[in-house]
Formats: sequence, structure tokens, C-alpha cells
Amino acid sequence: MTDRNYNYLINEDCISCHICVEECPRRCFTEEDNYTDLHLENCTDCGKCLEFCPMGAVIRENC
Ligand code: SF4
Ligand code: SF4
Repeated sequence: MTDRNYNYLINEDCISCHICVEECPRRCFTEEDNYTDLHLENCTDCGKCLEFCPMGAVIRENC
């Protein structure tokens, strides 16, 4: 179960800069070989990734 009200996605605008890997307070983003992945098990729905991603590539949508 989760208390999150929103789902988060990374869209095609991602440039794999990996700022999110460092900035997410719950370490939800991971650096993979050719892309960045997002695992929401520990996400607190803080919304910070919508601000720190320089490409606006993180999208929040209703669950
Ligand atoms: S901060 Fe944004 S552009 Fe950079 S890797 Fe994360 S999702 Fe992609
Ligand atoms: S909403 Fe907050 S905890 Fe969840 S992925 Fe974004 S920065 Fe991380």
C-alpha cells in the first residue's frame, strides 16, 4: 500500500544528467547504463523532482 496521491514518470525529455539520483531525498532515481530509472517504493510524494529536473522530464499524474 502507498499513501501517494500521484504517480511519477520520466518522459523522453530526460538527458540522463542524473541530478535526480543525487537530489531525491528518498533515492528513488537510479543511474542505469543508458537511462535513468525511477522506483517509487519509498517515494513520499514530496514533488521536489518536478523542480530539480532541469529538463522538466519528471511528470506527475494522478494515480
Ligand atoms: S534530473 Fe531529469 S533529465 Fe536529469 S536524469 Fe533525472 S529525470 Fe533525467
Ligand atoms: S516526489 Fe520526492 S521522493 Fe518522490 S521521486 Fe520525487 S523527489 Fe523523490
